Amino acid sequence: MSDYTLSEAATALRDGSVSSRELTDAALDRAAKSEAELHAFLTLAHDGARSSAEAADTAFASGRDAGAFQGIPVALKDNLVTQGIATTAASQILAGWVPPYDGTAVARLKDQGVVIVGKTNLDEFAMGSSTENSAFGPSRNPWNTDRVPGGSSGGSAIAVAAGSAVVGFGSDTGGSIRQPAALCGVVGMKPTYGLVSRYGLIAFASSLDQIGPITRTVEDSVTALEAVAGHDPLDATSYRGDRPGFRDGFESGVRGLKIGVVRELTGEGFEPDVEAAVRRTVDLLSDAGAEVVEVSIPSVDVSLSAYYLIAPAECSANLARFDGVRYGLRRDGETVEEMMTATRADGFGPEVTRRILLGTYALSAGYYDAFYGQAQKVRTVVIREFEEAYRQVDVLVSATAPTTAFEIGSKTQDPLSMYLSDICTIPSNLTGHPAISVPVGLDRHSLPVGFQIMAPALGEAVLFRVARAVEQAVAFEARPPLLEEWS
Ligand code: GLN
Repeated sequence: MSDYTLSEAATALRDGSVSSRELTDAALDRAAKSEAELHAFLTLAHDGARSSAEAADTAFASGRDAGAFQGIPVALKDNLVTQGIATTAASQILAGWVPPYDGTAVARLKDQGVVIVGKTNLDEFAMGSSTENSAFGPSRNPWNTDRVPGGSSGGSAIAVAAGSAVVGFGSDTGGSIRQPAALCGVVGMKPTYGLVSRYGLIAFASSLDQIGPITRTVEDSVTALEAVAGHDPLDATSYRGDRPGFRDGFESGVRGLKIGVVRELTGEGFEPDVEAAVRRTVDLLSDAGAEVVEVSIPSVDVSLSAYYLIAPAECSANLARFDGVRYGLRRDGETVEEMMTATRADGFGPEVTRRILLGTYALSAGYYDAFYGQAQKVRTVVIREFEEAYRQVDVLVSATAPTTAFEIGSKTQDPLSMYLSDICTIPSNLTGHPAISVPVGLDRHSLPVGFQIMAPALGEAVLFRVARAVEQAVAFEARPPLLEEWS
């Protein structure tokens, strides 16, 4: 039962073959059996989940149907603000904070009658690529518990891969949905900037952050995005135009589409097994009738540098609000300044501190033009080059990450090597364009490989269409071997 996809679970709930209470108990049971090894969750919401499940079952029994998520067990990244459930962003500085409100995406899921299984682990404030930067200890990959699950939405990706939730939600600032989905063998999607409200997403870098779903299938990704997307007056950056149809042409395959393979996202630094799986997938798309061309986007090489100036600069401003006065942790001091200094010194972990310092430096008078200003110019070039590419092709493709899941501890001493895990995913955050990761195979260590598809702004329909074609052509059916132990 914990292996149901969202569409299978939704059907079973409606034909009465399963109850939400059974689905929820199965998810909680899977979590109970696997948490000691995986540590996907920071909070498990046992009682709340059971009572939401009972409410959903009552609704079904009386013929009420509020939408696709009614009765569905979902895992939420712990930077999504949830009323009455502790929300920490995996930081000591928020320890003990119980939000008095729901973020918009969470509220929309609740309007449909969702069951919140729990809040999942992440790199502190979503800064990282392995979930090792959590103040509450790392998470582990269900395919091999010596490996990282990726990050920063590692917990949500694990929960979906391990069957502790049917759907997960995460946030993606530089790859944090797609990269852990790739490393855990599930589907992760970052929507066009502005499609999903960030009201109630604890801000990391506001010009880059997006909320998106982690699912077992592409079909579920579409359904999950439909549930949370749409204009929200509470988020000034939320998209005001008509919502594009996400399902247009969904099952019509890739015949007639032009697919560009990004040249700069191959070669040095990419594991041979990852490259082989990507090439195989591209060949399958070509067999299925797509026209495949190689595309060069030279600025991809400098996007990582631009991102690691823009994201820290924005985070240094966003994280100024954690001052010991308004939320969570507070240390004493003789003066207000001493109190704030002591609170922030104790409350933030090393990576968050590094980013705040870097960002403050990059924004300071005298350095602004050389660093932040320059990075913004690079960002403009990246956007132009991608827009130019989309005049030639319908979608661009690459690996989602240059490697499969790496060993726990192998990159923690070297932030630069950790940052390089985001080389494929960051460009779509700089441009604001949508992108998705679909599992396409296993490497020699039986670890999953993710295939990334990128599309122009509001190109969700063609993105999902190609992702669906990949899913069908590849027919990736492997599951983490440890699932048997946790059944
Ligand atoms: N790994 C990237 C970083 O550390 C991206 C994180 C994210 O998308 N939230 O900034």
